[in-house]
Amino acid sequence: MCENRWVNKPAGFCHSGFFVKYVVKLNNCRKNRRNYIWEKNMRTDTIAAIATALSDSGIGIIRVSGEDAIPIVHKIYRNKKNQEVLSDYKSHTIHYGFIIEKNGNLIDEVMVSVMKSPHSYTTENTVEINCHGGALMMKKILMTVIEAGARLAEPGEFTKRAFLNGRMDLSRAEAVMDMIHAKNQFALRASIRQLRGSVFDKIKELRKKILYEIAFIESALDDPEHISLDGYTERLSDQVCYLVKEINRLLNSADDGKMLKEGIRTVIVGKPNVGKSSLLNLLVGQDRAIVTDVAGTTRDTLEETVTLGDITLNVYDTAGIRNTEDVVEKIGVEKAKTISEDADLILYVMDTSIPVDENDKNILWMIKDKKVIILLNKSDLDEVVDQSSVDALLLEVTKKSGSLYGLSGIKCEEEKEQDDNIQMIRISAKENEGLDTLADLIKKMFFHGQISYDDEVCITSSRHKEALLEALDSMNQVRFSLENDMPEDFYSIDLMNAYASLGRIIGEEVEDDLVNEIFSKFCMGK
Ligand code: GDP
Repeated sequence: MCENRWVNKPAGFCHSGFFVKYVVKLNNCRKNRRNYIWEKNMRTDTIAAIATALSDSGIGIIRVSGEDAIPIVHKIYRNKKNQEVLSDYKSHTIHYGFIIEKNGNLIDEVMVSVMKSPHSYTTENTVEINCHGGALMMKKILMTVIEAGARLAEPGEFTKRAFLNGRMDLSRAEAVMDMIHAKNQFALRASIRQLRGSVFDKIKELRKKILYEIAFIESALDDPEHISLDGYTERLSDQVCYLVKEINRLLNSADDGKMLKEGIRTVIVGKPNVGKSSLLNLLVGQDRAIVTDVAGTTRDTLEETVTLGDITLNVYDTAGIRNTEDVVEKIGVEKAKTISEDADLILYVMDTSIPVDENDKNILWMIKDKKVIILLNKSDLDEVVDQSSVDALLLEVTKKSGSLYGLSGIKCEEEKEQDDNIQMIRISAKENEGLDTLADLIKKMFFHGQISYDDEVCITSSRHKEALLEALDSMNQVRFSLENDMPEDFYSIDLMNAYASLGRIIGEEVEDDLVNEIFSKFCMGK
């Protein structure tokens, strides 16, 4: 029987029943694969872990999941009546009582929630013991649960079980971790959307379309008497165009998404004593780097995560760059150069109260191909270096001209090549002036001035991006085969590859090593 969703099928297609057979075959294959991963990874024993932070707190939660979760906790739980059996409690109910040691001593006064399979996070029987917070108390209760028969959970094992038991796809499982580690509003919202299935739904839609084409080609090749491929290539071309467009749309969201989620790798460079550490302290909001009048104080590299409005910067403050004979300082300078190579953004701090020199030229040369914001610092002092002299230096070194952001009336001469990747602003790290402009400028340089929270689907994971790139490559191969009138089975092979690549995002085509690797990055108790 054909379902309504196949109404656009080419004539004659549904009569053969080949399509249905093909989908069943593929689904069985997928089920076998999931079963294989499940068998290799899944242990049905009962696991336990502390689910809350291991620190002083009002409440701590010990989570227990597995077939024997309820009898295990029952062994160590007493309530006032002392006759009630934990397994008799209804699912999703919470009960007041005590956790007791083997020798009958009371450990803590607790609330115990019971969630019965399959209606729990892991789909297994789950008990959560809400005890008093404090590392010692939580550890004590965890040990008691383990002595009663549970095993200490591995990092991420609860979510891994949720995935292996089919409660959530891999993209949703990853969103759980993203949500825990969210550094800013954007990351939080993107992970909530992903957890609610935004990535899963989109990938499922694309895979469904690809599967339809594979099934049609395979069915037609198997049953040419009933299914004709005449005129099919035009239809497939349209479908390939649509799929390429949609995959590209997801990929376009990936660069911004990753940067917004994980932060822009930002390196502060400049000569010694120009105000790099002062800037870092201002960004961080506390005295993290040592600020002194002595040149060469920051000899190593400091790293901080800074939130500037909507944007997260992973900032590296480096040793001042200058020619030096000091061995320790030399190492710091070399390190600064290496870190700068991998930076998304360079904040080049200049002291406008002293003249430029050879060191400035060297630094400009080193960073000329990067996205750079030149911070004309110490704007509260008398200016010895102005924007036009920095521009002249820039032109001399890089043949490019920077633009002074936010200030009117300064235009670059036409013969200069204007480079939007090099911008300048005036700041005073001492007087806390210019940070708002800096935030605006970063937004403009990286996100075209706007950060949208409402994008339907935003790719924030490099694993997903990689899979999308592979899918795109396969779809481009289909396009190539179509343009060159290749036999139909060529289309089908590449469509199948695209289908598999997209399947990796939601965990339908993953190797068990990858599953293990993904969940090993999770925290304990999740
Ligand atoms: P670094 O070696 O580049 O890290 O420079 P520091 O941050 O240690 O600053 C060197 C000196 O410059 C310190 O005395 C700071 O107080 C001073 N300084 C930093 N920024 C400013 C500024 O915007 N205005 C003035 N007047 N002094 C500054």
